[in-house]
Amino acid sequence: MRSVLASLVVCVLLATLVAVAPGASAGKTACEKRNNNTINKLLECVTVDGVRSHQAAWQAAADANEGIRAAGFPGYDASVAYVVETLEAAGYDVELDPFEFTFVPPATLQQIAPIAGTYETGAFTGSGFGTLTGQVIPVDLALDPPRASTSGCEATDFAGLDFSGPADIALIQRGTCFFSTKAVNAEAAGAEAVIIFNQGNSSTRLGLIVGNASTLPDGSPSNLTIPVVGASFDQGVALAQPGSLAFIDVDPPETRINNNVIAELPGKNDDNVVMAGAHLDSVQAGPGIQDNGSGSAAILETAVQMAKVKPVNTVRFAWWGAEELGLVGSTAYVADRTPEELDDIALYLNFDMIGSPNFVYFIYDGDDSDAVGAGPGPEGSAQIEEFFENFYEARDLPFLGTDFSGRSDYGPFIAVGIPAGGLFTGAEVVKTPEQAAIWGGTAGDQYDPCYHLACDTFDNISLEALSVNSDAVAAAVLSYGMNTETINGVKGKGNFQAQNQDFLPNS
Ligand SMILES: [Zn+2]
Repeated sequence: MRSVLASLVVCVLLATLVAVAPGASAGKTACEKRNNNTINKLLECVTVDGVRSHQAAWQAAADANEGIRAAGFPGYDASVAYVVETLEAAGYDVELDPFEFTFVPPATLQQIAPIAGTYETGAFTGSGFGTLTGQVIPVDLALDPPRASTSGCEATDFAGLDFSGPADIALIQRGTCFFSTKAVNAEAAGAEAVIIFNQGNSSTRLGLIVGNASTLPDGSPSNLTIPVVGASFDQGVALAQPGSLAFIDVDPPETRINNNVIAELPGKNDDNVVMAGAHLDSVQAGPGIQDNGSGSAAILETAVQMAKVKPVNTVRFAWWGAEELGLVGSTAYVADRTPEELDDIALYLNFDMIGSPNFVYFIYDGDDSDAVGAGPGPEGSAQIEEFFENFYEARDLPFLGTDFSGRSDYGPFIAVGIPAGGLFTGAEVVKTPEQAAIWGGTAGDQYDPCYHLACDTFDNISLEALSVNSDAVAAAVLSYGMNTETINGVKGKGNFQAQNQDFLPNS
């Protein structure tokens, strides 16, 4: 299945595989040699240590590549190379599925004087492009409490300020009017770039702000031609000092190609494909070892330990790229399938964040029994939800539904009518006291305090949740690999109906 191009790409990728090649050289374990064709046998072999070894490899990939594994960065390619090598070592034929995406290079903001500093930043949506070093000119700032800023909202705010130079940077404070209004006024006043910093008038308005400046209040486009970057309140205060000089770089987006990784375990029914997927990319702010090294590692370890299994239904594993940019890799994959190929997909299982440190056991609400947010999924999604409910109940573990919102890679599949389901342990939402009483952890803290941050590293994990959910992932993939009768009536291995005792952890 692998094309000449794919072989070439694999060679190139392997070259980037510095310190992350773990197990290929080591001999196969008893587990990997074994046909793990029952849930009991498979769960014995899908261990949290096995899953963690893959997360460790991606941490090393990030460490060797600017600390991140985002789409368009070498850390992502190194992550792909690790998956390819691990699967090939287990005997899989691996396909690289290239897709195009819009790569937005990270913006740069550095203060040069009177103090020096490189500040985390980002380009506002609708920003123009450019690279310049220039004087920073504060515009009607309100730095002292209560900081009721109207900075840049009126053209008169710029009166008396000298923007006649070739590289003048307007420093503007958030507050009162649209970001677009502030930026357009600054450009009209002659600024060659704009820094918008957070308002500082409440605890939620202190950190880095990167917003949308593409549309004016009347709905018309802002048509900005100069760079507009964000900063935190404290950085704004530092930049407002007399004699302030700064360097700004915002490069135009470009089209790049990244790869999804696809690997199959052929079954008798190759027109009744069971898919399990997870995104492999991180955000640009951190290495993404929880989001989504956790889900990617669980399906990788499942694939490794199922390598000798002869399923009834073809099982297809997928590691998606550019999920953090808007489900780009999975959407491209679904869009590239013919109607027949889509018909051949029986169901899709998604695993995105399954070991959050302050976790709750969430199951995608396929039947919309919670009646919140999006409606039910395509026919069959309710049964997948029930499968995972049975899994947790067999272990006396409490669980909750989570909205089938389409915020992860199952979105493109349910959009074309393919039943889907999966697990999630929580991201930026805060745990309630009631939840802490049930699942432990800390009320008032996010389920994942390092969500989309630099601290989403190897240590950002609940081993308890990861262990339980890795078993759930393996149990589901093997069960449906043998029998999807409950989903679509296609008969499988008759006696392979998962019974509750199958879900129990191995002693
Ligand atoms: Zn994610």
